[in-house]
Amino acid sequence: MSLQEITQRIRAAEARFGREPGSVQLIAVSKVQPEQRVRAVLAAGHRLFGENYVQEAQAKWPGFRAEFGPVAVHMIGPLQTNKAKVAVELFDAIHSVDRPSLAEKLAKLAQARGASPSLFVQVNTGSEPQKAGVLPGDLDGFIASCRAMDLPLAGLMCIPPEGEDSAPHFAALARMAAANGLTSLSMGMSGDFESAIAAGATHVRVGSAIFGARAYA
Ligand SMILES: *Cc1c(COP(=O)(O)O)cnc(C)c1O
Repeated sequence: MSLQEITQRIRAAEARFGREPGSVQLIAVSKVQPEQRVRAVLAAGHRLFGENYVQEAQAKWPGFRAEFGPVAVHMIGPLQTNKAKVAVELFDAIHSVDRPSLAEKLAKLAQARGASPSLFVQVNTGSEPQKAGVLPGDLDGFIASCRAMDLPLAGLMCIPPEGEDSAPHFAALARMAAANGLTSLSMGMSGDFESAIAAGATHVRVGSAIFGARAYA
């Protein structure tokens, strides 16, 4: 598939599910992709990307930004607290706020800098033991504690359990966001982004359907 096809499918899904035209942003997930593939998507005019690893993004994006001008890059992978400072300087949004120690660190950095990337709380909607994310039952308290630290939150993010229908997870995330007055929803990947748009996604994170399969070293 191509960037253009995915973009068309997003616009078609907006129309089909009664969403405002242009209300869904496409995050092109470029982690571990060869430089030429990323360069081709930049050359096609796309300006919003997702990365999973701070070091990889640090090596890649300052150069691309110097060459192509402003590009928004969102951190969608787990973030170690000791990389938070680099992350807030490099990324326009962080989708993986998932624990109190990270929230505290981000709040301190936001105070010191007078600015913060957009922040999404990652929710472990399937309550999977090995997966990152705040458990649904802990979410209201976690959001309240973030707000008590003056940490601005944009929305919620989830990665549904593999091999399960994503739709109930997307619906649950949308309900939790609405209940907490949050308007952004980061959900949907290559295999299920249309279902996420039906459920209210504002940000879909699509990698392999744009760039091809990832070749991990
Ligand atoms: C890698 C990744 C994606 C993209 O996955 P694809 O199936 O390649 O579209 C989306 N979200 C997160 C959190 C990821 O780690």
